[in-house]
Amino acid sequence: MQAALRKNETPRRQNRASLDFVEVYKNAGKAFGLIERYRTPPFPGTYALWYAYVSGTDCELISRIDDFLAKNGGLNPYDIEQLCLSLEAQGGQDIDTKNVGQAVEQELEGILKVIASGAERSDSFRNALSDVQKSLPGSKTSEDLDAIVSKLVQENQRMADATRQMNDSLVASQSQIQTLNQELASARIQSLRDPLTSLWNRGAFDRRIMEEVQEAEASGQQLCLAMADIDEFKMVNDTYGHQHGDEVLRRFASLIGDNIKGQDMVARYGGEEFAIIFPKTSVLSAYNLLVKIKHQFEELKIPVDGCDGTFTTVTASFGVARFEMGMTVRDLINQADTYLFEAKKAGRNRVKAIGFA
Ligand code: GH3
Ligand code: MG
Ligand code: MG
Repeated sequence: MQAALRKNETPRRQNRASLDFVEVYKNAGKAFGLIERYRTPPFPGTYALWYAYVSGTDCELISRIDDFLAKNGGLNPYDIEQLCLSLEAQGGQDIDTKNVGQAVEQELEGILKVIASGAERSDSFRNALSDVQKSLPGSKTSEDLDAIVSKLVQENQRMADATRQMNDSLVASQSQIQTLNQELASARIQSLRDPLTSLWNRGAFDRRIMEEVQEAEASGQQLCLAMADIDEFKMVNDTYGHQHGDEVLRRFASLIGDNIKGQDMVARYGGEEFAIIFPKTSVLSAYNLLVKIKHQFEELKIPVDGCDGTFTTVTASFGVARFEMGMTVRDLINQADTYLFEAKKAGRNRVKAIGFA
């Protein structure tokens, strides 16, 4: 404890000091009590003397003081001076009494710092500690210090409870945020999907085709775009109803989805129109695949719900564009639309692509 009172301590020492500071305050309180009781002048030297006396480590000093007290019922200024001189002569072997006052001040400062930093944590904690802060410098007796320490313990307990509660609510908030993030991620995906066919929607297509055009422009790699449109679809709706029309859309969508490769993308462009992106693909490969899809679709018998044994067969037309350097997204879509129009004009149920008659 004594070493803990010295200046320029190492951090380890300071740790020890903070462990012992309750005892320091108790002794300090007793020393102040003796100053009052024997009406000795409240100078740092007198305080150091009484502090050394109550801490009980210097037996010789204690017996000399006891002698004076027994003889005179107190310490006169001359006695105090002699005792202080002998205390100084010890060079602070057991207790560095010269620095006791400073050490107490340091401890006070430390506590005030802790209080100040703790006070930032909550308004109520700040108010409670500010009361302690005010009463600490004026405290003279061990009872005062005892009360202050127990108040600090009580307030710390309260703060610990509040911190635990805060932690619990932070953990709850964290899990809430994780749930919200998952919902957000799934909502983001949903916002890019077409609810009827589960294909990518127009928004997702717009984003992806722009990226692919930029990529093709930068890399010089091939890129094709196909627009597909179901033939005479209005008639399908009119004849078998919208429910069946929806089923046709779903069947066509899943057929295309089953045929394209990982890097390709199919999206519902709008109505009964679909867009298929073929990155790093030649127009011949895209054409061949679309012809295969066209065949599969025309062969597909789509049962009419509620009409036993009734089914429809529907066809689709396709137009294929090929990216050339300098083309914009709009240029590419326009070219695909042009070839789709050609396919319709030529009688439907066919694939028309640039470079193919
Ligand atoms: P074409 O061969 O020239 O493409 O003729 P079409 O009848 O397919 O084209 P048109 O543009 O005249 O009709 C398209 C129809 O697609 C009209 C519209 O009601 C229908 N349609 C668009 N979206 C949906 C949908 O989500 N469900 C259903 N059942 N029908 C849809
Ligand atoms: Mg159409
Ligand atoms: Mg159509």
